[in-house]
Amino acid sequence: MKPFYIYNTLSRSVEELKPLNPPVVTLYSCGPTVYLPQHLGNLRTYISWDFLRRTLELNGYQVRHVINVTDVGHMTSDEDEGEDKIEKTARAEGKSPLEVASFYLAMFQRDLAALNQEQPMVWCRATDHIGDMIVLIERIVAAGMAYVTKSGVYFDVEKYRGARRIGKLSRQSLDEQHAGQRLEHSPDKKSPHDFALWVLNQPHHLMQWDSPWGRGYPGWHIECSAMSMKYLGETLDIHTGGMDHIPIHHENEIAQSESATGRPFARYFVHSAFLVGKSGSKISKSAGKFPLLADVTAAGLDPLAFRLFCFGAKYRSELALADEGLRAAQSNLDYLREFARNLPAEAAAATRDSEFAEEYRERFLEALNNDLNTPQALAIALELVAEAYRRNDRTIWNTLMFFDRVLGIGLEKTRAAGQAAAFPPDIQALIDERAEARKGRNFKRADELRAILEARGYEVKDGKGGAATYLRRDA
Ligand SMILES: [Zn+2]
Repeated sequence: MKPFYIYNTLSRSVEELKPLNPPVVTLYSCGPTVYLPQHLGNLRTYISWDFLRRTLELNGYQVRHVINVTDVGHMTSDEDEGEDKIEKTARAEGKSPLEVASFYLAMFQRDLAALNQEQPMVWCRATDHIGDMIVLIERIVAAGMAYVTKSGVYFDVEKYRGARRIGKLSRQSLDEQHAGQRLEHSPDKKSPHDFALWVLNQPHHLMQWDSPWGRGYPGWHIECSAMSMKYLGETLDIHTGGMDHIPIHHENEIAQSESATGRPFARYFVHSAFLVGKSGSKISKSAGKFPLLADVTAAGLDPLAFRLFCFGAKYRSELALADEGLRAAQSNLDYLREFARNLPAEAAAATRDSEFAEEYRERFLEALNNDLNTPQALAIALELVAEAYRRNDRTIWNTLMFFDRVLGIGLEKTRAAGQAAAFPPDIQALIDERAEARKGRNFKRADELRAILEARGYEVKDGKGGAATYLRRDA
């Protein structure tokens, strides 16, 4: 296996990935709080983790990917202040919190599907894991790192951090972290820096569960610790999130998890940069109107143009959302699709590519293995196609398919559609029937259809995974 390098926020350096149990890589991505549509900035983050996952798979790793869904306990401020985000929307829309969460989760998952994101092994909803959170909080209390009051169970941040008070991930002291903030806090807390693991005595909160400390609900941070460890073990290989998660959310996840287990929580923390507006301002929900994937399609662009747009910038660089950039991504998408659509059948059926493609394959993988250098990888893919045109040698399909395992723009589908358009309808009907027969493992019928097609002057070549190529003999 080739070495894969990634920037680890813990060490502030690019490191070679050394998974705990190769070839398995455990990957946990902090998921959305489902109280509003996920804007393009949020989607960019998940697309980045899809690039990461697919790159690891391209290298031969088996990725166990978990994304959580926060449907309780995330307050309007990340510092536990204010109202529960889900309940705020529920009140405004006259729905139940469950309806709100399910509605916006479904919308988010539809967007990810339109962006060809691979399904994680597990989508885990916080409200389905309250028992796991309670067990974890009990362990933290037993370890002496949390205390119980009438308003909640709080994590003892000062005790955990000790004299230096520096956060492992943010490298900030508590005073720096909270500089300029007015931490209005419960008088029950020992320190304003302490955060809630479990909240008690909030009669207006709609979602409540019984616990050893009384009826209440979990804090946001404990959800990720409980769910990530449940599915991926007490030490994760890679934990991802947005850069805004570094000082509070991830710092708190580390503190809780390591207090409970006494082991390192995550070996690599990987953070993505923001998508910014034209003025350079962060695109966020609190900024009011925010762009959605529906706006991209309403502008006549393909959702996959947005995917390719994201591929064109490194995950930890800010990316400015601009019409020109999106249009350029659309034209790159069209360029690659056009090549696939018009690919001669012999080039598609070739088991080996022309020799010149080999070097591109190596360079593509090397770019991705170098801290996910997607812009460079995209340039290499476009260059290869240009070179194929220049040489008038299109035997590069295996290499393009290799690229598309990470690009994720569905080039095989485009090729098949282009090919289908080229057949007379009666031949296409036979081809479709044969595809169905093969899918249903009716090989007898598939062979009969092969004979009919051959008698009609077509050559039939079957490939891997149900793929087949049909070539008119005189073509
Ligand atoms: Zn999280």
